[in-house]
Amino acid sequence: MSLLQDLNAGKLHGFHGGIHPPERKAPANQGPIGDAGLPDELVLQLRQHIGQPARLKVKAGERVLKGQPLTEPLNPMMIPVHAPTSGIIIAIEDRPLCHPSGLDGPCLVLRPDGEDLWRPRFPIADYQALNADVLLERIHAAGVTGLGGAGFPAHVKLMPRRKAIEALIINGVECEPYISADDRLMREHPAEILEGIAILRHIVQPRVTVLAVEDNKPEALAALRAANDDDQILIVAVPTKYPSGGEKQLIEILTGRQVPHNGLPADIGMVVQNVGTAFAVKRAVVDDEPLIRRVVTLAGDAFAEPGNTWVHIGTPVRYLLKRYGLAPEPEQRIIMGGPMMGFTLHSASAPIIKGSNCVLAPTRAELPPPGDELACIRCSQCADACPASLLPQQLYWFARAQEHDKLNSHNLFDCIECGACAYVCPSQIPLVQYYRVAKADIRQAQREAELAERAKHRFEARQARLEREKAERQARHEKAAAERKARMA
Ligand code: SF4
Ligand code: SF4
Repeated sequence: MSLLQDLNAGKLHGFHGGIHPPERKAPANQGPIGDAGLPDELVLQLRQHIGQPARLKVKAGERVLKGQPLTEPLNPMMIPVHAPTSGIIIAIEDRPLCHPSGLDGPCLVLRPDGEDLWRPRFPIADYQALNADVLLERIHAAGVTGLGGAGFPAHVKLMPRRKAIEALIINGVECEPYISADDRLMREHPAEILEGIAILRHIVQPRVTVLAVEDNKPEALAALRAANDDDQILIVAVPTKYPSGGEKQLIEILTGRQVPHNGLPADIGMVVQNVGTAFAVKRAVVDDEPLIRRVVTLAGDAFAEPGNTWVHIGTPVRYLLKRYGLAPEPEQRIIMGGPMMGFTLHSASAPIIKGSNCVLAPTRAELPPPGDELACIRCSQCADACPASLLPQQLYWFARAQEHDKLNSHNLFDCIECGACAYVCPSQIPLVQYYRVAKADIRQAQREAELAERAKHRFEARQARLEREKAERQARHEKAAAERKARMA
């Protein structure tokens, strides 16, 4: 009750650090959401989420209908992908992935037939009549992952926990510069977002539901408030600061509570979902529409026509660059995501995936590439900016020296890779790159240690079995010898 009273009274909290980079949301956020249309070929990454890819259900040469599942999940962390339109699966092969590694990986390639024919659909008029398990299954089957960028399976976050959920927080903050996909979605589809939130509430049964929007989006706030007739959903404007949209930071702003180190929001009774995910949940449950398209911001001065547009999942970035009039400079950078947390694409053939919220094509004048890395001057500006209260310069030294124990003891894995430290660093040290590499190294070392431990257990179990069999054999022989001896006697 005190949380509800505080929020009703307009009481908010803060978080350590944070920065105020130029927002640069215009001109992309000025016009209505457009429609990117259909490319000649859709490239569907089998793995678009945190978890394993689901099992293939189709073969090359097969005709598929719009919305048809192309893979099937064997466990909750597997998320299916669906055909964004009708057509023919022309190949199942490795293609450039939408991933910072720039590697190729398994993809389904769909050639649209132009008919856009749906599979049979089964809309639900009254979701309230269904229990949470049925709705969770429907959300899972629709392939809904978090649309905020992280790609965590949406239904897993909503599963029942031992601890009751105190607050369901809907994240409409969208704090990263340039990106305005959620902003436009909130302005243009507030009723569907609110219906999605009502479905989430029906599943999670929270005590409090808060929809948080940064105060630099007054039109979105006004549209949501005008459409909201549910007094159980509080719509709250939070101050503009980067990275307020981080899950842990948003929880702290709204509740004053911190997610424990190595913990999850659910550990303190919180569930956070993005506004785009709430919209996708509404479409999945009510309209039986799987996650086959999303709003993508096309931003940066190199685009002739920046804006927000509906894009089919699987659309190659190259198609969008052409369609929206990219005028490339020499060595034009194409960034997937925003300038703080995005990554430079290695290939424009990489596809849009469920977590792709922005394609950024900045000119050099607008967003100069980072200069040469200089020595750390121990100014501690990075520590002042860090929203996770870490010591970024210490992490930097430990990462350089590959001191994994110290990185762990300094909570490297609490780093949300927001880039605030690198943004303020006067020595232009690409701190986040160091942390990403260090995290990958530690994970790899952990995997190898686990494999070695498993191999050791297997070896020891085999040795024990051989010893046991030897002892049993010996006992049998001794018994047979004793019986022989007895018979002879
Ligand atoms: S901001 Fe850069 S130069 Fe200053 S302490 Fe941090 S890493 Fe070193
Ligand atoms: S990238 Fe990590 S270390 Fe740097 S400010 Fe963000 S959370 Fe802190």
